[in-house]
Amino acid sequence: MSDCLFCKIAAGEIPSRKVYEDEVCFAFYDIAPQAPSHFLVIPKEHIGSVSDIGSANSAVVAHIFEVIAKITAEKGIESYRVVSNIGEQAGQSVHHLHFHVLSGRDMTWPPG
Ligand code: 5GP
Ligand code: ZN
Repeated sequence: MSDCLFCKIAAGEIPSRKVYEDEVCFAFYDIAPQAPSHFLVIPKEHIGSVSDIGSANSAVVAHIFEVIAKITAEKGIESYRVVSNIGEQAGQSVHHLHFHVLSGRDMTWPPG
């Protein structure tokens, strides 16, 4: 999608601190970290949110979770939280599917 911020980041048109990249997904540090380590993993193809996942694109999501396991293992991150906000009330501000991967501090449950 031409006017989508995360499509532009995935394409390298807007700079980011890259964590990982392959043909399917892109991972980069959040510009406003909410934990000592906070990166985002996004599909390169535009998907609006979890609500837009179906049989045609769910393999991308499975791949993203494999990548999250790989990145965290490589970084020695043993405890972390994966979050995806969907819609306004949940706090989604960028309408391109993304998974927050947060670690490095005690976290509350339930989340605020
Ligand atoms: P959401 O609020 O949609 O769940 O998450 C969007 C995240 O994207 C936020 O945590 C926000 O800090 C991050 N973000 C927004 N714009 C940029 C940007 O230009 N670069 C990076 N690296 N992160 C961004
Ligand atoms: Zn997009």
